[in-house]
Amino acid sequence: MAKLALLFVISGVLYFFSFNPSTRANNSNTPEFDTHHFAIPPIADLPNLKKTSNLFYDSIFSQNKSFESEGFDFPVGKPDATNYFNAQLFGENYHLGEDWNGIRGGNTDLGDQVYSIADGLVTFTEDVCCGWGNIVRIVHKLPDHPKFSYVESLYAHMHNINVSNGELVKRGQQVGTIGTAHGRYSAHLHFEMRDFLNLPIGQGYSEDQRGYFSPTDFINKNRPSE
Ligand SMILES: [Zn+2]
Repeated sequence: MAKLALLFVISGVLYFFSFNPSTRANNSNTPEFDTHHFAIPPIADLPNLKKTSNLFYDSIFSQNKSFESEGFDFPVGKPDATNYFNAQLFGENYHLGEDWNGIRGGNTDLGDQVYSIADGLVTFTEDVCCGWGNIVRIVHKLPDHPKFSYVESLYAHMHNINVSNGELVKRGQQVGTIGTAHGRYSAHLHFEMRDFLNLPIGQGYSEDQRGYFSPTDFINKNRPSE
């Protein structure tokens, strides 16, 4: 029994140190990590969240309050989506996101910059099979929002990814570039927002919108104050 208790204490200490940025920064054995970089478990191992806060994310944001979200911008043509248009609205054809395109049409927007819509924590950066291409997912903590403690943004079909998993990012920071999902589509950004965190990637289209909402509506209602 005593051995078991000791094991719990040791694993607890290891867990604490793995998420504590100050110890991470002072540990010369891990120079590849800066003070704003965290080990993120696979999405599948994290609980799907509804409108509740989460101990895992709270443990990170409580030590990095300057990365809590203070308002949202659009993911292209920052901050107001200037020179871009939304070619397929949320809910149109059961679309679970929005398709952002440059106004010049075709692939003229290929390689254009994609930005984090708000401060947050990168929880996923992967090239996902079969239609998704390069995806970045970011969790945003909303300290003062009347409805949401956290929301998630998802950027898909990208040509490049410019952030890494576990990185804390600022609003307007480049996360990638507009792509074609490896030639599958004409270039555009498929962009989703979710209030159920850590859902499976999904299909991009569904009659069931639970856990998803209109990005444009949300961004317009939650612009930065400055
Ligand atoms: Zn789409």
